[in-house]
Amino acid sequence: MVSEQQHRHKSGFETRAIHAGYEPDAMTGSVIPPIYATSTYKQDGVGGLRGGYEYSRSGNPTRTALEGNIAALEEGERGFAFASGLAAEDTLIRSVCRPGDHVVIPDDAYGGTYRLFDKVERAWGIVHSPAPVSDIDAVRAAIRPGETKVVWVETPTNPLLNIGDIEALAALAHDAGALLVVDNTFASPYLQQPLTLGADAVVHSTTKYCGGHSDVVGGALVVRDLDLAERVGYHQNAIGAVAGPFDAWLTLRGLKTLGVRMDRHCDNAERVVDYLLDHEAVEQVIYPGLESHPGHAVASRQMKRYGGMVSFRVVGGVDQALAVCEQTEVFTLGESLGGVESLIEHPGRMTHASVAGTDLEVPADLIRLSVGIETVDDLIADLDQALGRSLSAVARRG
Ligand SMILES: *Cc1c(COP(=O)(O)O)cnc(C)c1O
Repeated sequence: MVSEQQHRHKSGFETRAIHAGYEPDAMTGSVIPPIYATSTYKQDGVGGLRGGYEYSRSGNPTRTALEGNIAALEEGERGFAFASGLAAEDTLIRSVCRPGDHVVIPDDAYGGTYRLFDKVERAWGIVHSPAPVSDIDAVRAAIRPGETKVVWVETPTNPLLNIGDIEALAALAHDAGALLVVDNTFASPYLQQPLTLGADAVVHSTTKYCGGHSDVVGGALVVRDLDLAERVGYHQNAIGAVAGPFDAWLTLRGLKTLGVRMDRHCDNAERVVDYLLDHEAVEQVIYPGLESHPGHAVASRQMKRYGGMVSFRVVGGVDQALAVCEQTEVFTLGESLGGVESLIEHPGRMTHASVAGTDLEVPADLIRLSVGIETVDDLIADLDQALGRSLSAVARRG
């Protein structure tokens, strides 16, 4: 039998994805962890816990399996599973910040992350400054010595796919006595492992690539050292925004195929990018795999491949962008990302509506694709008909 230690340090990514965090059940041999739909556990005498389980907010075996698995994938000390990505974020912030503390956040952060800092954490005295993650000098300038406790980055960012240099940002944060937190939702642990590059904590919306099938909302934290693990573990239990056993089971099932899914997402995204680059109705294609992308060199260093997210700007402005979003048939118009099915959305009116009118506003002619793992020729044919129809629709309206 392969020990947990071997899973973490010796086995390949896909082996860890399939095996880490769970050994076949001692009594039944069940290869897959059961969904432990229980709130409490029988004690063998007062305080005689079996396997440490006492109450399911504090611990549940299905969640334990997921937490061990994602920790192994991110090569961290410990993993924690939450009811959503934002619940994970809030728990981390409250574990490491106190009123009066300051956080640097991406100037194109995920809209919900921005809203959490701007509307919720700020009211509790935790202030933030936005800075572009791709500009190390701007991040340095945004740090307030003595007050900044966290440098929070996404890379690639959402939806502009900017790239931050994790190693350089970790050094910068640590010089200032701050932690580097990386939201690794877009890359997934298959493409990038921030803890191995010096980050202190990784955040996931497991709703996205980790779950991978658009059937569960969840979040995770993985931390690099034991001290932070203890603080986060305490707050996870004290705040209580934990993943339920069925959600944990679905997420764990998704993680087993993360590697093969991500490779196909990347293959398809690369083909879609090539197609868009040649289209007359497309103004700009944003993808870190393109040599013309300003973050390409850094992305090549720290990512295995460039992911399944593609953003592009269309000729003709917002009307044209909305028309394209409304005319695809294989790409489903919807928020979220990272599932097996392709999605299209208009960030300005959908995922990023909450940052309209702020410094974080995104271009109105921007479209974001989450390129799924369908037959790529069908994806390209769908974009082709939508771009063609939208061109004539806008021409008619004009
Ligand atoms: C979706 C998302 C989140 C929030 O996660 P939820 O599971 O929706 O709470 C955070 N960061 C990024 C980059 C996301 O895409």
